[in-house]
Amino acid sequence: MSDKTVQELAEMVKTPLDRFLEQLKEAGISASSPDDLINETDRVRLLDHLRQRHGKAEDDGNEASPKKITLKRRKVSSLKQSTAPGVAEKTINVEVRKKKTYIKRDDTSATEEQKELDRVKQALDEQKQQIAAEEKDRKKHEESIQATIDEGKKAEVLEAEKVKQEKVAEEEKQEAVVESKEEAVPTPAVEAKSEPASVEASVAKETEQSKEESPKESGAPKEEVDAAAKPAKEEETLSEEEAKEKRLAEEKRLRLEASIERNAAKVRKQAEAKKQQTLHKKKQTGTTNNTGNRPGGAANRAGAPAPADKRRGFAPGRGQAMPTGSGRRAKGKKGKQKRIQDAAALDAKHQFEKPVEAIIKDVTIPETIIVSELAQKMSVKAAEVIKQLMTLGIMTTINQVIDQETAVILVEEMGHKPVLQSDDDLEKEMLADVADVADDRETSPRAPIVTIMGHVDHGKTSLLDYIRETRVASGEAGGITQHIGAYQVKTDHGNVTFLDTPGHAAFTAMRARGAEVTDIVIVVVAADDGVMPQTKEAIEHAKAAKVPLIVAINKMDKADANPEKVMQEMATLDVVPEEWGGDVQFLKVSAKTGLGIDELIESLILQTEILELNAPIEGAASGFVIESRLDKGRGAVATILVQKGTLKKGQIVLCGHEYGRIRAMFDENGHAIEEAGPAAPVEILGLSGTPEAGDEFLFAQNEKAAKELASHREDRKKSKKHAAQQASKLDEVFSKMEAGDTSTLNLVIKTDVQGSLEALRESLIQLSNDEVAVNCVYGGVGGINEGDANLALASGAILIGFNVRADAAARKLITESEIDLHYYSIIYEAIDEVKRAVNGMLAPEIQERIVGLAEVRDVFKSPKIGAIAGCMVIDGFVKRNLPIRVLRDNVVIYEGQLESLRRFKDDVNEVKMGMECGIGVKNYNDVKSGDQIEVFERVEVKREL
Ligand code: GDP
Repeated sequence: MSDKTVQELAEMVKTPLDRFLEQLKEAGISASSPDDLINETDRVRLLDHLRQRHGKAEDDGNEASPKKITLKRRKVSSLKQSTAPGVAEKTINVEVRKKKTYIKRDDTSATEEQKELDRVKQALDEQKQQIAAEEKDRKKHEESIQATIDEGKKAEVLEAEKVKQEKVAEEEKQEAVVESKEEAVPTPAVEAKSEPASVEASVAKETEQSKEESPKESGAPKEEVDAAAKPAKEEETLSEEEAKEKRLAEEKRLRLEASIERNAAKVRKQAEAKKQQTLHKKKQTGTTNNTGNRPGGAANRAGAPAPADKRRGFAPGRGQAMPTGSGRRAKGKKGKQKRIQDAAALDAKHQFEKPVEAIIKDVTIPETIIVSELAQKMSVKAAEVIKQLMTLGIMTTINQVIDQETAVILVEEMGHKPVLQSDDDLEKEMLADVADVADDRETSPRAPIVTIMGHVDHGKTSLLDYIRETRVASGEAGGITQHIGAYQVKTDHGNVTFLDTPGHAAFTAMRARGAEVTDIVIVVVAADDGVMPQTKEAIEHAKAAKVPLIVAINKMDKADANPEKVMQEMATLDVVPEEWGGDVQFLKVSAKTGLGIDELIESLILQTEILELNAPIEGAASGFVIESRLDKGRGAVATILVQKGTLKKGQIVLCGHEYGRIRAMFDENGHAIEEAGPAAPVEILGLSGTPEAGDEFLFAQNEKAAKELASHREDRKKSKKHAAQQASKLDEVFSKMEAGDTSTLNLVIKTDVQGSLEALRESLIQLSNDEVAVNCVYGGVGGINEGDANLALASGAILIGFNVRADAAARKLITESEIDLHYYSIIYEAIDEVKRAVNGMLAPEIQERIVGLAEVRDVFKSPKIGAIAGCMVIDGFVKRNLPIRVLRDNVVIYEGQLESLRRFKDDVNEVKMGMECGIGVKNYNDVKSGDQIEVFERVEVKREL
């Protein structure tokens, strides 16, 4: 074989010229330029050198030599190439062999190798442990970051692995066996011997391949032997092999260590950076959270990949053991790492961080609150509140209203601080928003507001009509005498406003709603009739309201008029005429003839002067609603009485639980007016609904606030808590007194007869002691009617019925307003109970409870069993064994037992409401149609201190 230049040889073995020259140099061949010739000897020398370098033993032909080479994969491909001009196209078969080399070593070397491997393994384990320990230390701060970085680390290791793989592949490619053949026939077998360089390349490739094998894999012997692949000239010594293995192991270990160290440093660096970032963020937001310190916090914020990262954990060096060909995965992980970084960057923009510390809130709780509203106040879901209420044994829905006490317990349970707010406080607060409450305006005298009261048919309406017709309608062109509930009379000395709602019932009803409208009360007494029950009531009511009285003795035109008698009777009621040394003006008038009417008005003016009635004229208006109705064409129409300021058309007013802008305003004659001053009654249009008589109205500066307050009042009204004056309770007298709320116990007493009234009244008043004054607001004979209930409500009094009962209307009001009503049939019991209440003692243990009421529809007389009352049970039930009372006009006329109770012809034990029955009363045969039979029971009441 002729000599070849370096250049030619390099091309032949497909090795870069530089590298080839280096290889020659290493082999000790003196060749420095590409044109130097290399002879056959030098080429053999180079081959030997390369064999040695790649650890290939020269085949010494010894069959006993412990050497096995297993062909793992062989790939043959062909490519066509025209090498030189004029030469036919060459077909080059490229065969790439991947082999595993197994070299049987003696035990000593194997042990040593195993030892070396163990040592590497141990070093690896130590490294792992060290990193794991470090990781544990930082876990609190960095777990999430580690999870993220771990991903990156793996990707990096994989990337390094990939680069390495690529390098190896390149080397493989360079050293691949290249077989050139002139024929286009593929070479089925390995033909390596003819070309030493090719052989060297093939062997070198095999060696390189063996590098990739893990020690374990290398140690696994393969049965398959390809003897043909054995290079004949290869030589190998055990020491060389051993040194090479060691070198590889050492290289591997160092690489691993370097990688571990690099990754650990990176982890630390990134953790530090993340920490700094979190701290910076904290500073920026100033929020009270410790998310940054929470394990997994960042991972959670990073989004979905976090849990997976967490699971994977931080395993240093694991990437090293990754199987080859994982570059694609590494790329995928790199992408994932980028996504995580993006998420982290995005996260840095999002400033919200879930508060982890419970925030204790001050939760204001009004008297009633809707579940959803309460939840909102505590910033929790309504379901949470409902759940909590369930644990307290209260089943609610989201829209249900719960009371203050329950709400307080709930709020405390949920770790917040309840702040109690009474509806009155809330109203005051809202009222302050609606209007300027402070009033330091300049005042001027105003017209008095007068109410006429008296017994039926004594001439109240006639008197009002007379004044109106003579004083109001006269002089008014057309004179539309429209009833608006009040009117103003103009006199030379000033105006007088009359409330055209005669009777003490209306007066007291308004008072009961908190409207102290009336300045003066005129009590009308017919001169021919004298003082009658309602006259007395009127006086009592006026006295209760502490309003000055003027007595008008009417019907003076009548022949049988006896004013002296009236004056005498009035004097007995503590209404003493001025001419008798008293302080009440008595005027003799006639609504028919007009006698004394002028004097009456004059005395009203005089009284006004005495009272020094003043009101501010300028500024925001306020006053009371006298009456209201719904008009078909005009909507809600309300008559209001301005007490202060001036009301103007177009203003927004709040009227009780209604509000609205005044569309139009009329006076009592139906004339449209633009404004109304103090004591002027006007009719207004434009309200959202019909307010109640006695409701306060006021000018609203803020429509929104007015609307809110109106709806708040409506809610209160619905919850039946809107009692302007809370009814007093006998039980509460002592506790209220202790709280400094009252030192007076007001009573409204109704009895069956006058005698018992006087006895009871005297006895009860005498119960007054240093701390509590017992005051009888009103005492009367007969059943308890609506007026009595209203009076009790207005005066904060307790109703006492002695052998009398409340009628249906009174019962309704008593129930609605929660008036404390007590029935007695023994004077001693009444005195005893009031005494106990006054002294703060416990109520008696035995109490009476009315269980049913039957109305007598017809009475059948039987000679054998006496009178049988055919009854209808109108309330509760009638039971045979229970005691009964017979009532006539709500007055008890008999108390006893039932003798018989029948339904049709059968004796029964009990008859329920809505059923008819026959009742025989023991030893009493005087039952009449229209009477009522009351069934009651005595129950033992456990009282606790
Ligand atoms: P009220 O129920 O108190 O409002 O009484 P009214 O005003 O309805 O009057 C009852 C009756 O008494 C009517 O028939 C009137 O005509 C009559 N009446 C009222 N005032 C007088 C009066 O001054 N003189 C006479 N003779 N009759 C009168």
